[in-house]
Amino acid sequence: MTSQIQHSRRIAFDRQCGKCYYCGLRMWLDGPVGPSALRCTAEHLIPRSEGGGDGLSNIVAACLHCNQTRHKRKKPPEPDRYRAEVRKRVSRGAWLPKPILAWGSASMSTA
Ligand SMILES: [Zn+2]
Repeated sequence: MTSQIQHSRRIAFDRQCGKCYYCGLRMWLDGPVGPSALRCTAEHLIPRSEGGGDGLSNIVAACLHCNQTRHKRKKPPEPDRYRAEVRKRVSRGAWLPKPILAWGSASMSTA
């Protein structure tokens, strides 16, 4: 049995070529084959609590780290704003520990 959310997550993962919607790093879906911070999760653009559904139009694939960090905030930032913030930190090398960043960046040069 595959739930709708699992299905959406897989499609979103493929649609984004396996890269996180926020940080742009490589994620893994079937594993574990990489760091747990970069496991692919389904992220609701509009939260369930605000009526967002589990369908593809509301789901993007995000790594566990980005997903958790966003929802740790008292008021989760808008997806676009959060993405800009995360990308800035990634480019400074300040988003994840170096070995994880290295794993997440690896496919971009090899694939
Ligand atoms: Zn991410």
